[in-house]
Amino acid sequence: MSPNKLQDPALLQALQQVLFTEQVPHMLNSAQSAALCKQLSCSVLELAERMLPLAASFAVTPKSHFNVGAIAIDTQQQLFLGANYELAYGPLTGSLHGEQSAIFNALSHQASSIESLVINAAPCGYCRQFMNELENAKDLQIRFNQQNYRLPQLLPESFGPGDLGITAPLHHLALSDAHKPSDFAKASYAPYSHTQSAMFAYQGDKLLAWSCYIENVAFSPSLSPLLTLLSQLNLNHLSLDKVERFELWEHNDNRFSFKQELQNFAEYSEKPMTHHGYSKT
Ligand SMILES: [Zn+2]
Repeated sequence: MSPNKLQDPALLQALQQVLFTEQVPHMLNSAQSAALCKQLSCSVLELAERMLPLAASFAVTPKSHFNVGAIAIDTQQQLFLGANYELAYGPLTGSLHGEQSAIFNALSHQASSIESLVINAAPCGYCRQFMNELENAKDLQIRFNQQNYRLPQLLPESFGPGDLGITAPLHHLALSDAHKPSDFAKASYAPYSHTQSAMFAYQGDKLLAWSCYIENVAFSPSLSPLLTLLSQLNLNHLSLDKVERFELWEHNDNRFSFKQELQNFAEYSEKPMTHHGYSKT
């Protein structure tokens, strides 16, 4: 969806005045969200709710045609948009949910703690479990259908990281000193398998987007680095046509590899890929 199709002229005008662009933003920093809230006389939660059609416009849904828009809000009132992403080929497990996309978008920008998620549909059970990995899961506010909930209301008697002995759940990625590709792989959140994996999309030497592996205590809702990378490209308005090559970086001692997953996509998209190992921790 282009912003021009958004049925909210006041939001469209405010976005253009604050961002000086017609391009749908993939995030709003604190100053931008404050300026928009002031101009529209609304709260940050209401702003996020009004922006959901824009978030959903990033969805890629060749199978379900069900476009999910999700917006994560951190404690600094920054907004991070996300949308679901499905692969056109292969099994249905080849899909990233909108809430996962928004949470990775926030983590990749080194957001402060996520305090709210605003969604254009009720979160599925899989996403409720994924959100339960966050350090502040018990206080996480979820808003959909004009109603606010706390995650424990939506996921009572839950299974969480503590049940597998994890004392430092997901709250940020160690990106502050990340420069080399292996640094981004090391930023993976993988307390259950200790797998370090990162994927990169390049146009020549220019890095277009990156992703790393994020695990979940229930294992299945863990994030595929490939789907996360494709979601990140999309959120940044970068089409696959721009990508000239993919890179995968993994620790040599990983118990498993995402090489086959990327290889399948590289063949499907007719792009070259390279696989790199590193040893130093
Ligand atoms: Zn979901």
